[in-house]
Amino acid sequence: MAIVVQKFGGSSVGSAERIQRVARRIRETAEKGNDVAVIVSAMGDTTDDLIALAEQLTSDPPPREMDMLLSTGEQQSIALLAMALDALGCRVVSLTGWQAGYHTDGLFSKAKILSIDCCRVQEEFRKGNIVIVAGFQGLDAHGEINTLGRGGSDTSAVALAVALDADICEIFTDVDGVYTADPRMVKTARKMSEVSYDEMLEMAAMGAVVLQPRSVELAKQYQVVLHVRSSFNYSEGTIVKEDAVMNKDLEKEMIVCGVAHDTNVMKATLFGVPDRPGIAGEIFGQLAADGVNVDMIVQSGNRDERQDVSFTCGRQDRMKITRTLSGLMKTLPADSYALLDTIAKVSVVGAGMITHPGVAATMFRVLAEEGINIGMISTSEIKISCTVDEEQVNRAVLALHTAFGLDDVKSCS
Ligand code: ASP
Ligand code: MG
Repeated sequence: MAIVVQKFGGSSVGSAERIQRVARRIRETAEKGNDVAVIVSAMGDTTDDLIALAEQLTSDPPPREMDMLLSTGEQQSIALLAMALDALGCRVVSLTGWQAGYHTDGLFSKAKILSIDCCRVQEEFRKGNIVIVAGFQGLDAHGEINTLGRGGSDTSAVALAVALDADICEIFTDVDGVYTADPRMVKTARKMSEVSYDEMLEMAAMGAVVLQPRSVELAKQYQVVLHVRSSFNYSEGTIVKEDAVMNKDLEKEMIVCGVAHDTNVMKATLFGVPDRPGIAGEIFGQLAADGVNVDMIVQSGNRDERQDVSFTCGRQDRMKITRTLSGLMKTLPADSYALLDTIAKVSVVGAGMITHPGVAATMFRVLAEEGINIGMISTSEIKISCTVDEEQVNRAVLALHTAFGLDDVKSCS
């Protein structure tokens, strides 16, 4: 008998019929004699719809009320899924995040899980119940509801797997696993049989949104092996673990394991900031204090003791950035600022880069051959990212996928 944690994403529970299918799958796992805890997301586009509803009322909803609202999405799905299991004759109980013992740090809309007191879940196991837990939510020390940021149910699931010392953590989604590129964009993309935490982290952070990056970090920290697979079929998905063998289905050694892209990117530039020690600290300190997650950063060369500072972040932070930058204009001071949201980011990822020089050169050459201009560049040991014009991102991904030998020859026509 094993302890199994399963997580079903919003699309897997997007309708009554889908909920029934998921329920049957959970029952199969339970009937094998396992203790099963299931994390669910809100149905389909519920979270987006709730955000849109709030935006009709105010452009600046109180963070507390926003979390109060968004946490209801997951509460709907746990109750419905529990009903479906009950109708199948299973013993089942649904629990909200707080009933399941998720303690969070109080940061509305992007809370971190501090701990999980899983006594209640274990007690329900002892009673023979399947436990359905609402993802994406917890309670802070003041008794306030916190949500964990978009895609946070993945992190809820991994955290529960850690707390329960689960034997298996399966992440069910609407795709067959992690692909070498977004399969909707690249027809020749292949499913990876295994991927390492580090590569997955880069892929996830770069826009391959199968898993919330934080969930991968947590899995890496506690060495939880994840199985990302489809809720619509029984085929093997992608195993995410420490020492993954890259592309073990191919004979040749691959340097790059995937090409990721992200269109939720905008660029902000502060023109003419003073060129002296402490300024970057002040700019990015202020952005951090205002809750803006900055990604790439570029400083231009100095002219007349002044320079330009550009950075990228998600488009959802537009309002916050506008506020922060107008404040910095006065305090630094700076000449002006500009926002640009017609850019996208394309990244190549692969642990093989550590030992193979020239990946960046290849990437830049491929983009040049496509006539694509590169904006900002950033690198890590196992990733190179460039911003490009949003309209060119499709072409960039396709060209890079081919150039790095990732195309599945079988599906090439
Ligand atoms: N429902 C939340 C979202 O849409 C959490 C999740 O799906 O993981 O972001
Ligand atoms: Mg998700």
